[in-house]
Amino acid sequence: MRAYVEYLRDLGVYDLYRRGDPVYEAKSALPAAPVVVAVPDPVRTEQTVLSMRQPVQQQPAATSPRQTVSSFSPSPRREFPESEIAKLVSFDNLAPLPEARLAAADRAAALEAIREEIGDCTRCPLAYAGRRKIVFADGDPNARLMFVGEGPGADEDTQGLPFVGKAGQLLNNMINAMGLKREQVYIANIVKCRPPGNRTPEPVEANTCTQFLVKQVDVVQPEVIVALGSTAATYLLGVKQSLAGLRGRWHSCRGAKLAVTYHPAFLLRDPRQKGEAWKDLQMVMKELGLKAPAKG
Ligand code: URA
Repeated sequence: MRAYVEYLRDLGVYDLYRRGDPVYEAKSALPAAPVVVAVPDPVRTEQTVLSMRQPVQQQPAATSPRQTVSSFSPSPRREFPESEIAKLVSFDNLAPLPEARLAAADRAAALEAIREEIGDCTRCPLAYAGRRKIVFADGDPNARLMFVGEGPGADEDTQGLPFVGKAGQLLNNMINAMGLKREQVYIANIVKCRPPGNRTPEPVEANTCTQFLVKQVDVVQPEVIVALGSTAATYLLGVKQSLAGLRGRWHSCRGAKLAVTYHPAFLLRDPRQKGEAWKDLQMVMKELGLKAPAKG
């Protein structure tokens, strides 16, 4: 029961009522899950994990959207596919850790090179799902603090920048409350293209895209990474656990300390959790020696 309640909280469901008589809803009342077919997991297969010291090879593009994606769920959240849990690989195991830190002056150019490598990407089905702009990242290439979200929404897809919609405004407020400006941090997402209807990225999409995010993290080499929400935590850490089980303690990711907190979009839906998110950010502030700005 506890696990189920936590699962519902991850979905953003907080108001639970007990009915007099139990009513068992038919499963078919749930929205249909997205079905991705005939696309092999291109990056995190056993072979690539075993040969992770080799550079990740560019994968052949899916030839036709009809072949790869048969339908999309209208629901943004759904359960993580059980069959994918065993295939999860942490960012630390995705590629060799960098041997040395890139000079500060070289990081902007290194990030630009990653952006060029991505090009007009067609490596995963999101390329064919109505994407307008690839959302690479935003912020300081030398940032001490990096935020990782899930994937672009409609505003981000239009502007080509992460977290510029309503959730982005809240993220900006969170950053300011930590005594920083948005320009002082680095912001990216697990996937760089908008999932249709803002649904959760499919594992094949996330696994394809994170080969570039891991490179971005290695160039910026932040001291602290904040995973915003369950999708970011799942792919950065390579584990599927409830947010409740991941929050409030330090994890590690590519030489950085990693904290998990609620996604700003979730906080917009349930502002009662803002206090909890603030606790997570205070843990980060302590680590970075940041002070909240004086009020007024
Ligand atoms: N939500 C995300 O996870 N990322 C964005 O860039 C915007 C909204």
